[in-house]
Amino acid sequence: MGFVSLGCPKALVDSELILTQLRAEGYAISPSYDGADLVVVNTCGFIDSAVEESLDAIGEALAENGKVIVTGCLGAKQGVVKAAHPGVLAVTGPHDVDGVMGAVHAHLPRPHDPYTDLVPPQGIKLTPRHYAYLKISEGCNHRCSFCIIPSMRGDLVSRPVGEVMREAENLARAGVKELLVISQDTSAYGVDVKYRTGFWDGRPLKTRMTELCEALGSLGIWVRLHYVYPYPHVDEVIPLMAEGRILPYLDVPFQHASPRILKLMKRPANAENTLERIRAWRAICPEITLRSTFIAGFPGETEAEFEELLAFLDEAQLDRVGCFAYSPVEGAKANQLPGAVPEQLREERRARFMHKQAAISAARLKARVGRTLRVLVDAPGIGRSSADAPEIDGLVKFKDVKGAGAARAGDLIDVLVEKSDEHDLHGRRT
Ligand code: SF4
Repeated sequence: MGFVSLGCPKALVDSELILTQLRAEGYAISPSYDGADLVVVNTCGFIDSAVEESLDAIGEALAENGKVIVTGCLGAKQGVVKAAHPGVLAVTGPHDVDGVMGAVHAHLPRPHDPYTDLVPPQGIKLTPRHYAYLKISEGCNHRCSFCIIPSMRGDLVSRPVGEVMREAENLARAGVKELLVISQDTSAYGVDVKYRTGFWDGRPLKTRMTELCEALGSLGIWVRLHYVYPYPHVDEVIPLMAEGRILPYLDVPFQHASPRILKLMKRPANAENTLERIRAWRAICPEITLRSTFIAGFPGETEAEFEELLAFLDEAQLDRVGCFAYSPVEGAKANQLPGAVPEQLREERRARFMHKQAAISAARLKARVGRTLRVLVDAPGIGRSSADAPEIDGLVKFKDVKGAGAARAGDLIDVLVEKSDEHDLHGRRT
């Protein structure tokens, strides 16, 4: 069986679930098209360039192998895959392990002797051994006007809390040192099931973000929260960060600061006083690292509203920030809003935004020079502190102690920070 995995961490988790099921049923995974009887392509359909990349990958798999099953977000877009590649065997949407397995069974019967015991209890992981994504829900109840995810992935469906905790426990037992909690809206966990009480380890546990964080915090490994919105109840998890039970890190996609634009975007928690919330979080947990993403040049954004966003950056002093120039994704409601900002101006605003934030991020990093930080090692000489999520944030580059063995991936060490640059810290192991 061949497998091509494209897209975001949520798609990556879907790939892991499918690979786990394939292995559980005795299918072998082949690293080349030649060695495979069939290829599964997990696609992304978020922006036009991702659609193109996915269609190209399907074309390549068809040319190289010929038997192809397509899954993922692009599969949810009615007819797109079949129109471009009529030769694919089957198309399913995202988060559809059963659909993919049904198509696999139809075209490649299950091997006779499944060595189910060869599959490790934590499943097959595509991330390095020492960190893993933990997907707690699928879909989203919001309808942000620039986003088509709900139309592809449907409304919020929270995974049962007991199942999430068992997966987390298995990962910890298998040597994972850091869990990255992901979803479309982590703060909404459990809303769809009215925060139903589940069971973990023989104890009742509510399907709710705070209770989940408390339980994850008891596993003794790093827990990092992504895609959290600034709702009042998020304040409840900040003390857990201050107490060191989960990492003092919050990834909050604010997207803008102008109330009018946030309303046009239909953002969750758009009526909250974000700056006040940030101040309150920092008062409880001064160590907290805040990461966010923004969109510059949203339809109708005036120069004054853009400047409001720049002023917000000055006030908020966020640690890590990404910014996209608005991209009119096909099918997104925002494209119909009046006052589209010309592409050149969108790019220009993005550049102005990043220029301002670069100085803020660099200054915040510099403030860490002279401190000793706990660092999780990714590779020899390279690691990350609580402030750095893998792939998207910076690194802590360190020299090992002379005479002592080199730190290895998955080790937790202390590093004295000696200097900083725009993204990374540099220091030596103590
Ligand atoms: S919160 Fe908004 S941007 Fe995020 S997935 Fe839901 S609709 Fe899309």
